[in-house]
Amino acid sequence: MAAGSAGTGRSRRIVGVVLALISCVALLGGCSRVISGTPTTAGRAATDDVAGLPASNGPSGPKSGAQPSTLPVEGTDNGEMDRLARDAVADVQSYWRQRFPESFDGKEFEPVKKLVSYDSGAPGGNLCGKSTQGAENAFYCAQEDTVAWDRAQLLPQLRASFGPMAVVTVLAHEMGHAVQARAGTAPPDAPAIVLEQQADCFTGTFFRHVAEGGAEHFQVSTGDGLNEVMGVLNYIRDTPADGDFTGTGAHGSAFDRVTAFQDGFSGGPQRCAELDAAEVKQRTTQFRFWQDDQEQDLPVDQRNLTQVRDSLREVFRDTGAQPPQIVGEPRSCPGMRGTRPVSYCPATNTVSLSMDGLQKIANPPAKDDPNSGYGDFAAYAQFASRYALSVQRAAGLPLEGGNAGLRTACMVGSWSGLLVEDPIGQRNPVGKLRIAPGDVDEGVAALLGGDSLIAAGINGEQVPAGFARVEAFRTGFQQGFAPCSTRYP
Ligand SMILES: [Zn+2]
Repeated sequence: MAAGSAGTGRSRRIVGVVLALISCVALLGGCSRVISGTPTTAGRAATDDVAGLPASNGPSGPKSGAQPSTLPVEGTDNGEMDRLARDAVADVQSYWRQRFPESFDGKEFEPVKKLVSYDSGAPGGNLCGKSTQGAENAFYCAQEDTVAWDRAQLLPQLRASFGPMAVVTVLAHEMGHAVQARAGTAPPDAPAIVLEQQADCFTGTFFRHVAEGGAEHFQVSTGDGLNEVMGVLNYIRDTPADGDFTGTGAHGSAFDRVTAFQDGFSGGPQRCAELDAAEVKQRTTQFRFWQDDQEQDLPVDQRNLTQVRDSLREVFRDTGAQPPQIVGEPRSCPGMRGTRPVSYCPATNTVSLSMDGLQKIANPPAKDDPNSGYGDFAAYAQFASRYALSVQRAAGLPLEGGNAGLRTACMVGSWSGLLVEDPIGQRNPVGKLRIAPGDVDEGVAALLGGDSLIAAGINGEQVPAGFARVEAFRTGFQQGFAPCSTRYP
């Protein structure tokens, strides 16, 4: 997140801001006007619903008592990692055997020719013309129709950091590339980012099958189980095209990737097949401008909080809601327990905050570090979420319950969407604040976590499904906040 100069094209932006504010008025005016104007956003989203499945926390991971798969794996040491990987591929292939024909013109699904396990620490290994030494990776190699994984480093690391379903996620993604090759859903010369996001989309279709209880070896809950799976997506970077296994460019931002996963989960394989270069380009164009500056951070301090407050005032000005008072220390609120590190008190229309607490959230994420946070944008988004509650209060909307949390995420998304610099003028920055893809990814990580206020009602409670939280945020981000009160009444 950065506080840059306003740049050029000022007048065009102002026009855009005015348009955005018209939708703010609709929030106060109730649903009917919004619905009549924008029928596509009229649908209500149930808070206990994950694309038609009930949202719940529950067991996720290998099913106890399932017979281990006997798929042949070259190079295996028959250890625990290979068993996990083999069972995962078995479930993914069995899913595609069922779904492939109905999705792709009756064609049968051919299992991949070869599964290969290797030890990236061992010398001499070679796959697809490349040395496996040092390749802490998993990949699909089209020339040899092979799915391969590093059992020595990558898989144990994934399992240790995210749990066993992280391994399943990686293999479902690699198998997604095999599906792509078989179904011909992307031309071979398609940009890497399209191939990657389509593979993420196919991963989403498979996980719906797992969530429905259809997989032999694995189960996943639609609440915290899927939260973890979606959280892993940003750590899978397999594009070997230019030898760069770590760059984000080829895969897209976490926000894009989670979007692709959710599209697959909700829409099935055919939705993934529709995902093409034009769609991916349209979604990612909005971030072009700030690529050079995306690593800038906006430290959490009084001055920058004032800028953020001003941008919120600007976005929500024409709702007529009285802007809340901002207090730079925790304050008690009559009849309420309040939230940390930011709290909204309806009785006094006050947002009070702990600067230390917000600064901690603004710390960059770091494994095993007690001071680890989500990044600067995530901190400001928590602040924005409490500010958004004041706007909702003024509109007479309930501040408790699942809808309040999702409506809040949607409104934070709408504010975020206005901070994106856009070369074609469809989005319009408010004031001087700017965000970059990395910022939105911080927000997505926080939304998938268990401790964020971004999608929380006044008491800090979130709905269990990060899936629904990210969806709500995205609705606001892409459409502004007119839909927030209709989808989440
Ligand atoms: Zn990939």
